[in-house]
Amino acid sequence: MATTHEQFWVRKPGKFDLADMPTKPEADLEREAVETMTEQLGKEMEELLDLLFFAGKHGFLIVLQGMDTAGKDGTIRHMLRFTHAQSVRVASFKVPTPQELAHDFLWRCHDKTPGKGETVIFNRSHYEDVGVVRVHNLVDESVWKKRFDHINAFENLLVDSNTIVLKVFLHISKEEQEERLLEREQDAEDAWKLSVNDWKERRYWKEYQEAYSDAIGKCASQDAPWLVVPGDKKWFRNYIVTQAVVETLKPYREEWMESLKQVGKEAKKELERFRIAAPQK
Ligand code: AMP
Ligand code: MG
Repeated sequence: MATTHEQFWVRKPGKFDLADMPTKPEADLEREAVETMTEQLGKEMEELLDLLFFAGKHGFLIVLQGMDTAGKDGTIRHMLRFTHAQSVRVASFKVPTPQELAHDFLWRCHDKTPGKGETVIFNRSHYEDVGVVRVHNLVDESVWKKRFDHINAFENLLVDSNTIVLKVFLHISKEEQEERLLEREQDAEDAWKLSVNDWKERRYWKEYQEAYSDAIGKCASQDAPWLVVPGDKKWFRNYIVTQAVVETLKPYREEWMESLKQVGKEAKKELERFRIAAPQK
């Protein structure tokens, strides 16, 4: 049976330290059994995303953050298996362009948020602006320190506008990152992912962990919670992320079904009225 893994959620602001969170699955779990559960949850996720799309009452934003090699791309590929292209988009945030830098830091993100019925996955996000930006002093401390309040206000605005917000931090260990970076060197097919920058950034591991711990602690709330996923094993990561999506959307199921039922009833009535007014020849 699937358990709910409440221990991976951060649902209220407060002091938070990534060092207290596991990067590995519980020891007694078997990969095959977990993968079977993931597939079942994936079907449920697909159904819920369909309902979200057709009901058109809410948007759904999934924010993905993590260290380099944490598995953001792999997690997106996994989630897209359980979605339909017409309702889902991925928005990736890279080093800001001059135009983006000429605006406030939320401008480029706000522009990509989901409208009603849409699901958007943020591959990196506004959290880079209190992550890499903080670690490398790209702006003054006095500037990034104020951003937590801006982020909370921004996410509150999204929630108040019927956006369901789920923030996911893919949490890997430093050892696992080294293994993944070395694997990329060995594997001809993966070599295109090699970047000397990843090795450079790895030297700032501690600073990144501090920055993310702080951001998660300061920007966690009931309505825009963080899920800190043990990321060292991809099969466990996929399971927990799929389960979190299902858990996040399930409370809306009845409301969406009811709204679709009403739409169906209205359409039937309209058709009846049409037939009465203009009988078939
Ligand atoms: P990748 O996700 O591997 O394509 O890399 C994107 C790069 O863009 C990463 O090194 C990020 O840290 C960087 N990046 C994303 N957002 C920002 C930002 N707001 N300021 C500076 N660098 C950023
Ligand atoms: Mg990279």
